Amino acid sequence: MKIETQCLHEGYERKNGDPGALPIVQSTTYVFDSTQHIADLFDMPTEYMYSRFANPTVDAVEKKIAALEGGAAAMCTTSGQAASLLSVLNLCNAGDSILAVSSLYGGTINLFAVSLKKLGIKCIFVDPEATDEELQNALEPNTKLVFGETLANPALNVFDIERFANFAHKNKIPLIVDNTFPTPILCRPIEFGADIVIHSTTKYMDGHALQGGGVIVDSGKFDWTNGKFPEFTEPDESYHGVVYSETFGNIAYIIKARMQLMRDFGCYPAANSAFLLNLGLETLAVRMERYCKNALTVAEFLKNSENVESVSYPGLEGDKYYERAKKYLPNGTSGVISFVIKGGRERATRFMDALKLASREVHVADIRTCVLHPASMTHRQLTDEQLVAAGINAGLIRFSVGLENVDDILDDIKQAFANS
Ligand SMILES: *Cc1c(COP(=O)(O)O)cnc(C)c1O
Repeated sequence: MKIETQCLHEGYERKNGDPGALPIVQSTTYVFDSTQHIADLFDMPTEYMYSRFANPTVDAVEKKIAALEGGAAAMCTTSGQAASLLSVLNLCNAGDSILAVSSLYGGTINLFAVSLKKLGIKCIFVDPEATDEELQNALEPNTKLVFGETLANPALNVFDIERFANFAHKNKIPLIVDNTFPTPILCRPIEFGADIVIHSTTKYMDGHALQGGGVIVDSGKFDWTNGKFPEFTEPDESYHGVVYSETFGNIAYIIKARMQLMRDFGCYPAANSAFLLNLGLETLAVRMERYCKNALTVAEFLKNSENVESVSYPGLEGDKYYERAKKYLPNGTSGVISFVIKGGRERATRFMDALKLASREVHVADIRTCVLHPASMTHRQLTDEQLVAAGINAGLIRFSVGLENVDDILDDIKQAFANS
């Protein structure tokens, strides 16, 4: 199936007489005829037992997203933050380190630099354009993974997935890619060598600003038996001595995340949330096409406006990442544009306050046009140095183009320029 068809038909398999739409199984538990049956499920979870481990509605959505990304299996979480956290904790213990590029979502930078540090996991941040030699020098013997973001929020630089995947694999460690902004409609990182893909489904996948969520997708391709990851090849005493790589083969990573991390941390999404996420996924391909078309028009307008110092939109000819975007994002670079308004921080807030159609909100990738000022909102916790490293200017505005008629969006920008 092509990806547009997968959006509608993957995941929930309808049999004769089944409901046409994905049913919401609003139940935490499942009943069985015998004690032995449940005991067997604890040994080998082949059926639904308790919704923290698996739920049919959530399961269908996980299968759909795994298919869209071209992965082997997926696990949904309550938020993108939970997905980032668990994707790392599944591979690292206290004393380990991770290598991450500095151009990441602000929440991820904070998670890695502050909270993981408290857990004893060190994050080595590197410039996304660092040479292979610089990357090699930054690596430590206990570095367990490399982490990047396809289209960085909000700097909008395009991550060179293939180069980082080759680097990671040369060092026998996996590459994890946050693919939130492109969604699998615009980029499928696994095709370029990524081993694990994560998302904040809160953004385009949900698409309607209804509910938070996250997902971790396992490509099924990484060799966990290469000697670097003993927790995959030695018995897990907390789970009946199972050896993940032997029992679960190419979905060992996701099963381990589910059986250890979801079991213990419990950040599982509600069936109702999964149902809503599925509605978003059904129209994802159609929506992404329109976001890209509208955003390109807006980016071209901004580029030619005398009110604007600079525009970042990798789909725009002349953008620093235009060539790389042609490789990784040939069908468009999402609806998100970052631009630096002339007049700095003060003009940026005046412009934002003057907008009438676009809403000021702490969100991005909404179905409606929305706008945010990273320096005073999402990236407020970063130092000036970290702001620069993350590619953020104090006058930077993150403009998330929605699905309105693009002429209305342009009119709103024009009047806000005039009134700020
Ligand atoms: C929003 C976002 C996250 C965090 O997701 P939440 O669902 O808000 O927890 C992670 N990565 C990227 C790229 C994001 O845009």
